[in-house]
Amino acid sequence: MALSQLVGRLIGVRRHEVDPGGGGASRVPGPVTAVVVGGGIAGMSAAVVLAERGVEVTVLEAAPTLGGRLGAWPETLADGTGQVNEHGFHAFFRQYYNWRNILRRIDPALRFLRAVPGYPVLSAQWPTEEFGKLPPAPPANLLALLARSPSLRLRDLRGMDRDAALPLLTYDPVRTYAEFDHTTADELLTSLRLPDRARAMLFEVFSHSFFNHEAEMSAAEMIAQFHFYLLGNPQGLAFDCPDEDYATAIWAPLTRHVERHGGRVRTGVTATELHRDSAGWRVHTPEGTYQAGHVVLAVDPPALAALVKASPSLAEEAPALAAAMPGYGRPGPPYAVARYWCDGDVDPGRAVFNGVSRQATLDSVTLYHRLEHESRRWAQRTGGSVIELHAYACEADVPAGELAERMRAELTQLWPETDRLVVRELRARVEAKAPAFAPGSHAGRPGVRTGADRLYLAGDGIRTDFPSALMERAAATGIIAANHILRAEGGAAEPIHSVRPRGLLARP
Ligand SMILES: Cc1cc2nc3c(=O)[nH]c(=O)nc-3n(C[C@H](O)[C@H](O)[C@H](O)COP(=O)(O)OP(=O)(O)OC[C@H]3O[C@@H](n4cnc5c(N)ncnc54)[C@H](O)[C@@H]3O)c2cc1C
Repeated sequence: MALSQLVGRLIGVRRHEVDPGGGGASRVPGPVTAVVVGGGIAGMSAAVVLAERGVEVTVLEAAPTLGGRLGAWPETLADGTGQVNEHGFHAFFRQYYNWRNILRRIDPALRFLRAVPGYPVLSAQWPTEEFGKLPPAPPANLLALLARSPSLRLRDLRGMDRDAALPLLTYDPVRTYAEFDHTTADELLTSLRLPDRARAMLFEVFSHSFFNHEAEMSAAEMIAQFHFYLLGNPQGLAFDCPDEDYATAIWAPLTRHVERHGGRVRTGVTATELHRDSAGWRVHTPEGTYQAGHVVLAVDPPALAALVKASPSLAEEAPALAAAMPGYGRPGPPYAVARYWCDGDVDPGRAVFNGVSRQATLDSVTLYHRLEHESRRWAQRTGGSVIELHAYACEADVPAGELAERMRAELTQLWPETDRLVVRELRARVEAKAPAFAPGSHAGRPGVRTGADRLYLAGDGIRTDFPSALMERAAATGIIAANHILRAEGGAAEPIHSVRPRGLLARP
């Protein structure tokens, strides 16, 4: 254990137990059925826990492949090579305790996750800044950042509004939202009076990673994420990634795990409506109706709004859920992913994953040929490279191909050698399915319970009472939904963990 983690531990920066789990039988005593709509992280996490406890669970996934926003699917390049393309690079942070517990089912030592060294932030205006080498735990990581960052000198710290910065250290799951949910992240950052460079290099890259524009994102949500990723956990900003594509590394083995425990996973099946009758819930799909005692809706925000709208009886069964949908179902801005297969490589010293500051479109660059086996093999065979570019919150109504080219042009300003790479192949997508965290949205954000008997929600937009985000929130809400079902049916619940529940300087 590093010294910073030891010090952090003394002040409660460690893994906390949110729910000890247990309290029932290792398998539900009688026959219990459940349908999980959505085969992303949230839905599959719910299905894993339910299947293990003997619930007859069926996952319905609309897409031909599992994974949702962590999806992966086979493609053939023009040269005839088969490649698994993905929904985009994902950082598996080490404080994703619940998601990692699900993944341990398929690899107890998590050997398929490899540490990604470094976390540089690139800028056309300022030298690259490295965040991967900070001590892991707070407060040492924050102190080291303040002491070492060339973006923040002593005189800048004197000029800062320290009172305005205090909320970043005093995260509280209730007070933070009460005080800051109606402020925008942009207003909060402006109030800190940071020099432009510090704001760009230290904060903007971070806030862009949540798929929302700063001017349209709740300051409370940003404070919560600052706590979750930097100031509340002993692992800091370290993260890992699978060394195989997500289909091979995660979805195929998780499917086998669910099926081994008697669950069923159906892809290419879209739930179109649901209602309840005396026998329980009925989930309609074009291929027939699925009946179940319990239903977990683990779909993205626009899909949830569409499903609720197509299910008129939910207005009576779950009026609060129906009322929340117009706001909740409106996703954050579009995000773009462009994977380029190129002739030639970038400079050998470039990092595998790079955040990008202050480009109009480009937010991150990943060198897949130095990350995943299949891309590496393609690059070794052809002498080329596989480079993925992301924009996390981009301009609306711009086609994917154009966004890809904008990102590539911006990359040449950061890494001039990319200008001479010849593009062999491009797969570009733009989608808008990420939850919006608009100012003032917290009070109306749906939680796992819907108000309707035996109907639950899960997903990365669903509220949790403890710090969580993105993949970890998807997994945690899936497990919470499964726990509600298990507790109702006499099965043992799954433990839930999180980071330090409140900020370092939060009032008790
Ligand atoms: C480009 C990109 C990069 C990202 N990087 C990171 C990262 O580095 N770290 C991180 O933690 N997170 C990252 N994320 C976020 C992460 O992908 C999501 O938080 C997570 O995957 C959400 O999982 P989910 O199960 O809640 O939703 P989804 O993945 O959206 O799953 C919902 C599923 O429901 C299915 N569905 C929808 N409607 C229906 C229906 N009617 N019937 C049946 N099925 C239906 C969908 O097809 C989908 O498979 C990234 C996301 C993107 C897009």
